[in-house]
Amino acid sequence: MADTATVRFAPSPTGPPHLGNVRTALFNWLLARATGGRFILRIDDTDRKRYDAESERQMLDLLRWLGLDWDEGPDVGGPHAPYRQSERLELYHQAVERLVADGRAYRPAEEPEIVRLRTPRRGTLTFHDLIRGDVTFRYDRLPEDIVLIKSDGFPTYHLATVVDDHAMGITHVLRGEEWIPSTPLHILMFEALGWPPPLFVHLPLVTDRSGQKLKKRDPAFLASTYRQGGYLPEALINYLALLGWHPGTEEEVFTPPELVERFSLERISKSPSAFDGERLRWFNRQHIARLAEERLLQETLPLIRAAYPQAGQYDRAWLARLVRLVRDELSTLNDVVPAVRFAFVPAERPDQFTPEAWEALHSEQASPVLRAFREALLTVRPAEPLHSAEMLRDLRKRFREAEGWGGRTVMFPIRAALTGSVTGPHLSDIVDLLGREECLRRVERALAIIGQ
Ligand code: GLU
Repeated sequence: MADTATVRFAPSPTGPPHLGNVRTALFNWLLARATGGRFILRIDDTDRKRYDAESERQMLDLLRWLGLDWDEGPDVGGPHAPYRQSERLELYHQAVERLVADGRAYRPAEEPEIVRLRTPRRGTLTFHDLIRGDVTFRYDRLPEDIVLIKSDGFPTYHLATVVDDHAMGITHVLRGEEWIPSTPLHILMFEALGWPPPLFVHLPLVTDRSGQKLKKRDPAFLASTYRQGGYLPEALINYLALLGWHPGTEEEVFTPPELVERFSLERISKSPSAFDGERLRWFNRQHIARLAEERLLQETLPLIRAAYPQAGQYDRAWLARLVRLVRDELSTLNDVVPAVRFAFVPAERPDQFTPEAWEALHSEQASPVLRAFREALLTVRPAEPLHSAEMLRDLRKRFREAEGWGGRTVMFPIRAALTGSVTGPHLSDIVDLLGREECLRRVERALAIIGQ
């Protein structure tokens, strides 16, 4: 990999964090970690009209949740403190005074409180993007004499960025493609100030599936939608890393450390990447499936306890067994809530059964099957093990031999009676988990529903 990189993620706290922010933060973090470099968090808050303290808090909280740790930043400090641009005004004014003294910037007579950069009007400027190659701009197409200091005394984004990227020793600027038009202006300023510019990498646009740029406030683009929606940070990171970067293998599911190991600038793509919520869901499922059990419990038990207060009556080992039974069904952590419902809320009313289960319960075979199952449960003494797998196997065999009924015909009414559904974990696991008494209660209830 390249030399040690010093990079920054420089959000403007003007709205709730979205996936575009996360992707930019992630690529910077990956480059820093892959090269043993530094990841700086800087708050670009010079737009005082749009500044929103709550967005800043949300951004830091989100980065922490994602595990994108920073080496320097507003909370942890560092050698280039402070890390909020609003606290660095002195530096911007010093740079501007130099530019004015050198004749590269001026205060317009009609608006003496602002400062403008003198931009050439003829010729072209070319800068090198590590991914896109040379990018050339005609000066006459650039905005003329851009503002450096606004009438409120605050610097513009352009000035503050250039001053800070230099002061903080930034080696690589990785940012969204929408910033490409700003880059020639920054290059002009680096040059006017006599500072070497950093290397530039512009990340491809994130679009929706029809190729439209994603809107900042679209709920499908907001990071909070996924955090609250039961997505794992590692799934979001995995998916977003592949949105604009290619690992160079067929493999796709990576943990953050695996991504760090494989990351390289060369495999960042130029073309826009379409965000696909279904793919993200697929990645989440993969990461949930790979989660260590302890972590899965940490993530899911609070959801279960919040949804079913009666879960408090069970010990952790029992709850762990329950979660283990349904883990294959989870695309999101939140899916655990409907998946474990059967354990806490027995189906009693018609609307608590799925239509298939309701039908199975009202089949001709349901009553003899449920009676036989009740019989089998009653022959086990309360403290003895149920041997439910054998018990169910015997029931199937008996009805196949005596009546010629298939496995489902026999199992579906039992499933329906125990869970209100005909799908879900292995039936014997359900029987074991619920235990003899609860199974008996539910079978009685089901027999009562069908009037037997
Ligand atoms: N504050 C800018 C933003 O909101 C940073 C752009 C850059 O990386 O230069 O994205």
